Amino acid sequence: MNAKEALKNFFGYDSFRNGQEHIINSILNGKDVLAVMPTGGGKSICYQIPALLLSGITYIISPLISLMQDQVNALQALGIRATCINSAISVPEKEYIYKLISENYYKIIYVAPERLECQDFINFSKTINISMISVDEAHCISKWGQDFRPSYLNILNFINILPKRPIINAFTATATEEVRNDIINIMQLIDPEIVVTGYDRKNLFYKIEKVSNRIKVKKNEFIINYINKHPNSSGIIYCSSRKEVEELTEILNRMRFSVTKYHAGIDQAIRKKNQEDFIKNNILIIVATNAFGMGIDKSNVRFVIHYNIPKYIEDYYQESGRAGRDGNLAECILLYSSSDSIKNQHLIRNDSQQENMSRNLKREQIMSHYGKTFDCLRNYLLNYFGEKRSMPCNNCSNCNRNQQFIKVDKTEEAKTIIECIESINGRYGISTIIRILRGMKMKGNKSDLNNNPKYGTLKGSSEKEIRTLIDQMIEENYLKRVDREFNNNFFPVIELGDNLPIDEIENIRLGIPLLNKYDTD
Ligand code: ADP
Ligand code: ZN
Repeated sequence: MNAKEALKNFFGYDSFRNGQEHIINSILNGKDVLAVMPTGGGKSICYQIPALLLSGITYIISPLISLMQDQVNALQALGIRATCINSAISVPEKEYIYKLISENYYKIIYVAPERLECQDFINFSKTINISMISVDEAHCISKWGQDFRPSYLNILNFINILPKRPIINAFTATATEEVRNDIINIMQLIDPEIVVTGYDRKNLFYKIEKVSNRIKVKKNEFIINYINKHPNSSGIIYCSSRKEVEELTEILNRMRFSVTKYHAGIDQAIRKKNQEDFIKNNILIIVATNAFGMGIDKSNVRFVIHYNIPKYIEDYYQESGRAGRDGNLAECILLYSSSDSIKNQHLIRNDSQQENMSRNLKREQIMSHYGKTFDCLRNYLLNYFGEKRSMPCNNCSNCNRNQQFIKVDKTEEAKTIIECIESINGRYGISTIIRILRGMKMKGNKSDLNNNPKYGTLKGSSEKEIRTLIDQMIEENYLKRVDREFNNNFFPVIELGDNLPIDEIENIRLGIPLLNKYDTD
């Protein structure tokens, strides 16, 4: 049986996804592999198919016992002889499993990395023929990653004790150079085939819905409307607080939608039941905090709506990525209001355990700009992960909207704004800057601003136009938003960015609805 036949026979799929066939064939040719694939990209099959086709036994090292059990259940349901050995298993059960492995009953064994340090497991492993060791979530080996797990460092010791070195491969969704090098060096992969399939999830449509006043009402209206338009779709709605989860669930229940809820404040047994109801399609929609989702493999999630903006792009990518794992079209919608981003900044500032506050505040700003950018949303996300694209995707709400926009040259206005901010030494926030430029009278300690050289220079522009232009200039790093401390309070002010000097600025363009063009023509 070859890889393609195994795909059809065991899993019922007709074709491979990006990268899968190459990875599988490399392993079958005896090569070590390091594979970087996005969440939902289909990593599991890349080690499960070789595990079935190689002559000996495969160990799959996986960090979470709950995940492990799910994977084993899924494989057993397909008639594949897989099992796991973990601390939830009694000693007699374990002995029995060892016996079945020795008799070649099981092909695939899931273990947590800590298991490789148990003497009885080591002794047993020396007696069987291990063809391959696959390390899932391999970024846990690196101190650079967010989820460093010390016992991953001992995987190599274990391998070295074995009478014969199996094929080793490592899988992760985290792609930074440092992490990749750590994985190769620490696990001592031999001339590995490195396969990076990239972060793009082509079947996901990204959408921003901006809400600026009557925020809660508008968000709820949007969601009710959306569910009404997609009556049979399964989806996740992420909220940032337990309170919002409760409130929204209540509202949606009253509308008689099929909805349940999940957050860490709900009794564990009920939480588990709610999760099962959702995964087994008894209930269509789950409203949840970010406590929900780790290790959830529900393939037919058709939408992920974020009621609030998450803190970082990594969070958004991972949470929204739970949509469309089956490869069919799905939507990722962010309900954006700048007040949610300000709340996140507060949380970051007040988190005393934070090691790197200023870096995290910067990361937060990058997330926040996702809600404001005029550029392709997909490219914005991919760019963050180091994948540069020049062509817009034509499959996100910005691309759709940009097709109805013209870009207008705003370079002169941009220069005026920069000069104005220069003249006030970056001491004021966006509202005051706009007031100066539009020539609005100011009183009290701000009255000297009425004499600013740039006072009234953009009289003809609306408040919204200037605000949009400043936002865009921040995004392109001509300006930056900084928090100034004054009497123990922080105030957001606008300073000059790093992308200057000013005479090099040209071609700052702004999206203006086409309608306006016809209006003025
Ligand atoms: P990852 O571990 O990379 O997040 P999984 O291995 O859990 O992703 O795969 C995600 C989903 O895609 C699963 O439901 C899996 O069955 C499905 N899948 C994987 N490969 C294919 C394929 N070639 N064709 C169709 N579906 C696939
Ligand atoms: Zn796009």
